[in-house]
Order: sequence, then C-alpha cells, then structure tokens
Amino acid sequence: MIKQRDENNLRDNYDVLIIGGGILGCSIAYFLSIMTNSSIMLMEKEKNVGLHTSSRNTGKVHAPFYYDPEKKPSTAAYTIRGYEMIKRYCAFHSLPFKEDGVVEVATDDREIDVLIKHVEWARRNGLNNEEIKFLSKNEMLEIEPNVKCESGLVCFRDASTDYGLINQKLKEDAVKFGCNTSFKNKFREICSNTNTGAKRRMTIIGTAKNITSDYVINAAGGNSLDIAHSVDLAKEFTDLHFRGEYLTAPPKYSNLTKRSIYSVPRYTDYPFLDPHWIRRADGRCEIGPNAVPVFSPYSYNLADNLKNVVPKIFKSSKLGVVKLFLNKEFIRLVSNELSSSLSKTNMINRVKRFLPSLNSSDFKQRGMSGIRSLLIDKNGNFAAESLLVENESSLHILNYNSPGATGALPFAANIVRQLVQKNIVNPTSRRVVDSPFTDEYM
Ligand SMILES: Cc1cc2nc3c(=O)[nH]c(=O)nc-3n(C[C@H](O)[C@H](O)[C@H](O)COP(=O)(O)OP(=O)(O)OC[C@H]3O[C@@H](n4cnc5c(N)ncnc54)[C@H](O)[C@@H]3O)c2cc1C
Repeated sequence: MIKQRDENNLRDNYDVLIIGGGILGCSIAYFLSIMTNSSIMLMEKEKNVGLHTSSRNTGKVHAPFYYDPEKKPSTAAYTIRGYEMIKRYCAFHSLPFKEDGVVEVATDDREIDVLIKHVEWARRNGLNNEEIKFLSKNEMLEIEPNVKCESGLVCFRDASTDYGLINQKLKEDAVKFGCNTSFKNKFREICSNTNTGAKRRMTIIGTAKNITSDYVINAAGGNSLDIAHSVDLAKEFTDLHFRGEYLTAPPKYSNLTKRSIYSVPRYTDYPFLDPHWIRRADGRCEIGPNAVPVFSPYSYNLADNLKNVVPKIFKSSKLGVVKLFLNKEFIRLVSNELSSSLSKTNMINRVKRFLPSLNSSDFKQRGMSGIRSLLIDKNGNFAAESLLVENESSLHILNYNSPGATGALPFAANIVRQLVQKNIVNPTSRRVVDSPFTDEYM
C-alpha cells in the first residue's frame, strides 16, 4: 500500500513518531520508510532538518584509530560500516565525499607510543595495512613538509563531507518514500494512553500540533536526555554541554597541508580531542573544535547561554556533576578550553605546536560552532558510547556524539532491524529501487 504524504497537514495517527530531524532522526526515518510498512511522522522543532549538531561539526567521515576496541567496540564498528554507507549515499546523490585522508602527529617522544597504540587499535577495529601506516619523522616530512612532529600516523581511509547536505537529502528521500514531517513542532510530553484499539496508542503533545502514535523514537540530540527523563528513564544520568568553536583560516593557508592534521589527545579520560587543523570538503581550512562548557545544547552565543544558567545549574546539582567538578584534571581541561575560547591566540597556539608557520593575526573570522551533549553517571564518569534505553512504547537514543554522523546510517538501519525483530514494526515486501542500499545493508 502506498503511504500517504501530508507535510505539515497532519493525520491523527501514526505507527511511529521520530522526535528530531538531525542526521540520526532522518537516517531512522529513511530506513523505516524503505524497510517497513509503518506510517511514520518525523517531528522537528525547527523550520527545517539538520540545523543543529548535524550541520555544525568537522565534517569528517572518521576511521576508528582513536577508539579503544575494548571500551568502544560498537563506535568502532559503526564508523567502519558508516564510511562505506556514506560513500555509497554520496555517490548516489552526487554529494561531496573527498577521500583526503588524515594524519595524527606526535609532537614529543612520549606521544610516539600513543601513535603506535592507535595503529594497533585501528587494525583491531578492522583497518588493514594499506589503510593506516605509522610514519617516522622523515617519512612525515616527505608527505607533509610543513608539519613539525616526531612521527605520525597516516590514515588513507578517512574522508571529508558535508553532513548538513546528507541530512537534508535523507529527509527528502524519507519523504519521497512515504514519511510525514511536522516542522516548528516541539515535542513536549507523552500525554496519555488514549486507547483506540491499538495496543499502545498514545498522544504526543507538541507545541504546534498534537499527534497520536503507537511508538516513539527519541532522536532529539541535546534534548534527548530530558525527554527520556520525562518518561522516567535514564534517571541515573545527567548531561553537560560543550561548545566546539572553530576559527576559519584565510585562503593563504589553503595549501599548507594536503590532509587534516590531528594531535595526540592530552586528556585520555575525557571524550575530547585537542583542536585540529581541518581541511573541509569544500577546500576551506579551519582550526577547531575546542570544548567550552555551556548551559544548553543551543548556547551558540552569550545571550542564549545566559538564559540557561539557572535551569542548568538547578538540574546539574547531581552527585555525578559535583564529583566531576571536584576532579583536578577535569578542571585543568576546562580552564584550558575556556582560555582558548576567550583568546584566539591561545586556540591557535594549540595547533601551532605542529604547524609553526601559522600566525594568529591572520585569523579574523570565526566558523560555525556546534555543541556536544555528554552523559555523566553518578560517579562523575562520562558514558563511553551512545546508549539505548526503552520502555514498552518508546526508544531513546542518548549520548549520540562524535563520530555519530559517520555512524548514523548503519546505526539507524540496525535500530530498524531490531524494531522489526521485536514485532514493533512490520517489514515491507515493497522494493525501493531508488536507494543505494541493497539487502546486505538492511
Ligand atoms: C563540534 C563537533 C564536531 C563534530 N565532528 C564530527 C565529525 O567530524 N564526524 C562525525 O562523524 N561526527 C562529528 N560530530 C558528531 C555528530 O555531529 C553528531 O553525533 C550528530 O550530528 C548527532 O546527530 P543527531 O541527529 O543525534 O543530533 P542533532 O543534529 O542535534 O539533531 C537533533 C534534532 O532534534 C531536534 N529536537 C530537539 N529537541 C526537540 C523536541 N523537543 N522536539 C522536536 N525536535 C527536537 C533538534 O532541533 C535537532 O534538529 C561532531 C559534533 C560536534 C559537536
């Protein structure tokens, strides 16, 4: 049966409601539309999809050399599969996908061991000898003469793209395959079970229009924990938000390196890398991101940040956050990040360690910042990977952070596969021909 499409002209009832039109929500909408016969509604609080983290990031299709296979096995697996799927999707729709590779550098002897460990992690995570290589100081000079380092690793299986464009195209495809959308409609609460025959029919209260659905998937990015809390899930976690800021390099630096350059992370217990030298898919070069603590997932500027001081402090008086802020190493990290937000020179100096020819007075323009929302447990530890929590009628995707954009397609296909296995949605026998993904991806 062909499903009805009625953008912003809502029917009453849907089998599945997805909250959030970032790359994750749109990937789920895409696979639900082609793999199942459900009626689907994608609800987004903004006037379009992908206006937040999914288009405010570094744009890298990451390779898994930073991820410890013991601690982050699924993150690593999703990046491997994600690379392949994004490459296919971009080729299918003529979207940017530049296989430009990336380098990680050791700036002193002590960091060389970390590089060796990262090459080993990469191999255990599925990269082969042709895709990642350890390079001596001289070998590094041959491939990147302007980079100062003691040694490096080069990963050829790493690419640059524009996730904002992918996000938009996924939404367009999902709509073409039957998904409904509701914009400027902010999910507020699940109201009640207004049982009209279906097992789990419930009313979803939005700010623009109320919707009835059997099942809810929460892919609301920085708001997803609050939504999970509203149905009494994941109460043991709280979240903190960190703004990643970028500085745009002037065109004179366009040919400084052939690849993006990353450094060995200084604080390995925390999910932050130091600012990198970034070559974007469109040729622009940037420095960033840092990780400045802010009070909301949308604190892109001072006014928005100040508006959220009181509610966030109230919510964050939890034991885990208190413990984290008593940790000296975390405080050192935070002060470092704050100083690189206040001073352009401090930010540039962090990259100048390995690109000494940069001159901070050349950097006049800020890039677009993006915000990570990280989950913290009761002991003050950051959650290592993304987390799925559920009850009978809803599934919540929490802590969906970097390299979340890389892994969004396989992650979403896997969620839909699990919903089919649990009989929450029914598979379709209809074949979608207008997709690059054959059965092996679904
Ligand atoms: C600085 C930075 C750099 C990064 N770099 C990379 C990178 O190079 N490569 C990579 O793979 N990943 C990267 N990431 C991570 C990646 O961008 C994210 O993991 C991914 O975009 C998360 O997608 P999402 O759909 O979960 O969230 P979002 O894109 O934030 O989407 C969530 C959506 O939900 C909507 N929403 C929220 N609340 C409601 C509500 N109540 N009702 C309705 N709608 C709601 C929001 O408006 C938003 O559109 C980076 C992240 C940051 C912050």
